[in-house]
Amino acid sequence: MDILKRLNNILIQIKNISNKKNVNVIAVSKTFNLDYIQPILDSGHIHFGENRVKEALLKWSNVKKINSNIKIHLVGKLQSNKIKDAFQIFSYIHSLDTEKLALLLDKEEKKNNIKVKYFIQVNFGNEIQKSGVSINKLTEFILFCRTNTSLDIVGLMCIPPLNEDPSKYFKILKNIAEKNNFLELSMGMSGDYLSAVENGSTFVRIGSAIFGDRTN
Ligand SMILES: *Cc1c(COP(=O)(O)O)cnc(C)c1O
Repeated sequence: MDILKRLNNILIQIKNISNKKNVNVIAVSKTFNLDYIQPILDSGHIHFGENRVKEALLKWSNVKKINSNIKIHLVGKLQSNKIKDAFQIFSYIHSLDTEKLALLLDKEEKKNNIKVKYFIQVNFGNEIQKSGVSINKLTEFILFCRTNTSLDIVGLMCIPPLNEDPSKYFKILKNIAEKNNFLELSMGMSGDYLSAVENGSTFVRIGSAIFGDRTN
């Protein structure tokens, strides 16, 4: 099946269960080149995800000049020395997870007169995935960001632990988001996006189910 058919099937599946709520599909195009992605771009799809700043700049800078509606999401870790470059290409950053990074982003936003939307990445405590704020520090971290920065934090993001039922984690994240008045939730990938949508996700990050397996 071609990538556009796969995307369209996913959009239909999501529409059928999302209960009129608007769910955004981020097509995670990391490692794939523009020629391969083009049919999805031509279809008018808006949201794309990348995990490397340099790759995103090279791939998307010209596309964004031609079509300013396109939104590129950083779904991977952001190193502090890449912030300036990241601001040139990303509309959303899904990996806000330390006080140091929050302060740096705030400073650079003000210096460059730029506003980006952020998700706080939450770590539910599996060992492989070290990024993210641990659940017992999350309330404190949200308060820190709201008190000490003017970052536009729209919601929470998570990657549930592997080999566990993800719905438990999606429910926990949804609950915390509501308590903290966040409207958006970045949860759900190729293997669990339907469960994520059922549990209130508003941004699903889907790579291989659209583009096929990544070789690197
Ligand atoms: C690569 C990546 C995705 C997409 O993963 P698939 O399983 O291919 O859908 C989603 N979120 C993050 C944070 C990623 O790094």
